[in-house]
Amino acid sequence: MEPSSKLPQVGTTIFTTIGQLAQEHNAINLSQGFPNFNPDPKLLELVGESFKKGHNQYAPMQGVLSLREAISEKTEHLYGHFYRPESEITVTAGATQAIFTTIAAFVRQNDEVIVIEPAFDCYEPAITLFGGKSIPVVLEGNDFKMNWSAFKSAISPKTKMVIINNPHNPTGTIWSKSDMVQLQDILRDTNIILLSDEVYEHIVFDGKPHQSVAKYPDLAARAVICSSFGKTFHATGWKMGYCVAPKPLMQEFQKVHQFNVFSVNHAMQVALAQYVKDPKHYVNLGSFYQEKRDVFLKGIKGSRFKMIPSGGTYFQLLEYSDITDEKDTVFAERLIKQHKLASIPVSVFCKADYDQKFLRFCFAKTNDVLDKACQILNSI
Ligand code: GLN
Repeated sequence: MEPSSKLPQVGTTIFTTIGQLAQEHNAINLSQGFPNFNPDPKLLELVGESFKKGHNQYAPMQGVLSLREAISEKTEHLYGHFYRPESEITVTAGATQAIFTTIAAFVRQNDEVIVIEPAFDCYEPAITLFGGKSIPVVLEGNDFKMNWSAFKSAISPKTKMVIINNPHNPTGTIWSKSDMVQLQDILRDTNIILLSDEVYEHIVFDGKPHQSVAKYPDLAARAVICSSFGKTFHATGWKMGYCVAPKPLMQEFQKVHQFNVFSVNHAMQVALAQYVKDPKHYVNLGSFYQEKRDVFLKGIKGSRFKMIPSGGTYFQLLEYSDITDEKDTVFAERLIKQHKLASIPVSVFCKADYDQKFLRFCFAKTNDVLDKACQILNSI
């Protein structure tokens, strides 16, 4: 059977494609973003106990209440905004599900959704699937700065939603207070919903604060904020995340969520509820990953790659125009096959024309792996 595709332009995600190629060629894999080390043994113990204690049937649709309470406390403590556990928080199967469900709940046929490019790859297909049109606003220059006047011009009467991602995957840039204030001012007298992907909220470097949308009341009032336990607790394979939003938005979100997954892993939620309560389990994550960023950057100091140090996330972009003028997809493939090192070409995150020469490397790896990767990069 040849079904007519709802997503004719979409192939298999870059993470699967490059991951497979990396495996075939036995390459060091700094492509897909995940740590090559385990979560805290204490968290693993809590999860094990939780399964044994019998939390093995459906969790409540919104998520286990004690976990929603812990999320509420954490969000209020960090960003000064109180989300009601009973009506403004949902635990999801990773942030990807929260993002997909938000788009499904609000985007209708012919709605426009502004997407900041390069953009993580799950936004666009979801917009298309629900009949929306993504409108790219491209980050500018080698430091990927936001052009707020271009952003303002991209807004039309059809704009239903804006998707932002801070700290930003793939560029590793973070937004300043001034960026947030400009966003708040531009959206002020509109009905635009803000979808804020903040999965790297705890991975911010050089002593800078994370600028959560939750800190800005006029933004928070229109926003669904998506977060990830996988990124924060080194457990991307658990697919555990959550989102917070004001009640009227969360009600619509849950109408879809209940028929999308109904609820997510019960035992893990019980364990996470206990673990999240202690801020020491996430407040030092920025310095932990900053050390890895610095090992990576120091290791390739003598290489021919150019870079601006990542400001957040566990990704570092490297610019290679001094090495070759190959397209990034071609160079990334050659790096795997010839040099046994896998990365992600940045053009795959862009619908708009893109001819810059950047590859994205994930440094959430043990130092031995980072050292080997640096040796390869120095030899190119
Ligand atoms: N967030 C991860 C990355 O950017 C990938 C997640 C996924 O594969 N869907 O590498």
